[in-house]
Amino acid sequence: MKKALICIDYTNDFVASDGKLTCGEPGRMIEEAIVNLTEEFITNGDYVVLAVDSHDEGDQYHPETRLFPPHNIKGTEGKDLYGKLLPLYQKHEPNVYYMEKTRYSAFAGTDLELKLRERQIGELHLAGVCTDICVLHTAVDAYNKGFRIVVHKQAVASFNQEGHAWALSHFANSIGAQVAE
Ligand code: ZN
Repeated sequence: MKKALICIDYTNDFVASDGKLTCGEPGRMIEEAIVNLTEEFITNGDYVVLAVDSHDEGDQYHPETRLFPPHNIKGTEGKDLYGKLLPLYQKHEPNVYYMEKTRYSAFAGTDLELKLRERQIGELHLAGVCTDICVLHTAVDAYNKGFRIVVHKQAVASFNQEGHAWALSHFANSIGAQVAE
């Protein structure tokens, strides 16, 4: 079965110490794991999706406006990929797809499913932040669409350790994902 890596929201605002909505140290601790996974998929010729939250400044209609401070605003450094993932993306390898999303799930209102189906990809490997928000919502959509799911435990993180642990058990027990060490 063909596979793809979906690397979710690994940007300055979600990861850097001065990020607008940072998940803090746990987010920075997975940098090596995320970069290694991404390199491995690129080298193997597998599809890599960098799914990045994207907001318009002052968007009063967006549901997150009531919930969170402004983050990942278009045109700001906060929306740039964090750490070593940025130079890796800047090599512009042909099997890497950078896409913007506006909701938690990378499938919501995007062409992600079309891109995956065109390539006959049936297995999705998930990495990024936050385990219990955007990774979770993407995993649930992937489950409903019939994809096999592998969540890389060393390459997901959250600001909320209880939420992180709960999401990992949900992946394994309720959506049949393989939680890879
Ligand atoms: Zn957002």
